[in-house]
Amino acid sequence: MSALEIRNVQKTYGEVVTLKGIDIALESGEFLVLLGPSGCGKSTLLNIIAGLAEASGGDILIGGQSVIKAHPKDRDIAMVFQSYALYPNLTVRRNIGFGLEMRKVPADEREKAVLEAAKLLKIENLLDRKPGQLSGGQRQRVAIGRALVRKPQVFLFDEPLSNLDAKLRMETRTELKRLHQLLKTTVVYVTHDQIEAMTLATRIAVMRDGRIEQLGTPSEIYDRPASLYVAGFVGAPPMNMIDVTVRGETLVIAGSEAAVPLPARFHGKVQDGQLLILGIRPEALDLAEASPASVGLPTRVDVSELTGPELVITALIGSQRLTACVPPRSTITDGAALTLFFEQDSVHLFDPKTGMAIA
Ligand code: ADP
Ligand code: MG
Repeated sequence: MSALEIRNVQKTYGEVVTLKGIDIALESGEFLVLLGPSGCGKSTLLNIIAGLAEASGGDILIGGQSVIKAHPKDRDIAMVFQSYALYPNLTVRRNIGFGLEMRKVPADEREKAVLEAAKLLKIENLLDRKPGQLSGGQRQRVAIGRALVRKPQVFLFDEPLSNLDAKLRMETRTELKRLHQLLKTTVVYVTHDQIEAMTLATRIAVMRDGRIEQLGTPSEIYDRPASLYVAGFVGAPPMNMIDVTVRGETLVIAGSEAAVPLPARFHGKVQDGQLLILGIRPEALDLAEASPASVGLPTRVDVSELTGPELVITALIGSQRLTACVPPRSTITDGAALTLFFEQDSVHLFDPKTGMAIA
């Protein structure tokens, strides 16, 4: 039995179809991240799970029971919003305990739960303050605390870190991960940030226009993107996409004389003369041969930028541009010829007509 099952969920607003049939089943303790650009339907799906929006079709099951007709408060879920949604006039203590107070949980039991959550989140010393006397990061912890004390079957998070600055966002992300490892509650977490998705998720659902484009573990999404869309969305700098043409057992790079071997695993899956997109991640490009099977690409350096942990090289192959991330101490001369090497198993191929990966 799944902890949470989303069955063929659809949503239309008038003429606009926002969710086009979403199916996901989660085991207990999974951390599912819904990842996609603004407007793809992430919040709509989360709100339908929470009962804050009504589905136009389909079903939601929690612990095997349909909850699609249940009131939000009867769904055994707790939600954390980007905007925190705290009561400004109540202390942190009462904000955290508010859900319990509404459920008429006795005061001593409530106080115990609030203290426990505050301790986990390291905000014990803030319990008597009002939200206005807290920083953004502290407010978000209070909002998380309010969800924690409910001990729900499922936590829902809608972009909970988006209002924090970069450093705090990273710290809070790590703490969320630690909390999840400790509590092992099932989570559905919405974000447009691919790093958050990669670091937090046990599985990622990459969404596009109200559909799931790919559902998989972070390494499946990163190592075997199912489409150009997923490949371009996960990874920074993004995957290089190079136009090529199949010629026998080689791939000729458009606008240049250069060709690279067609990796053996694609033999028989592509046709002579077919136009393809060769995908290669910037971090898969290297300044030296890593193995006897390494393939070299003749390029010319356009610019190189030292970020600290790495040197990011923008190079040209014919008229096409590609990015390589190499160790920071490499010496690179702008304008010079440079061979960039890669291993054949790091090559991705996509059909530009369908946008899908060649498996
Ligand atoms: P995301 O969270 O991925 O940014 P949303 O789920 O908020 O996306 O929105 C998905 C789409 O549904 C958007 O195109 C949005 O304009 C539309 N939408 C959301 N809520 C409403 C609403 N109440 N009425 C009409 N359209 C809506
Ligand atoms: Mg949203």
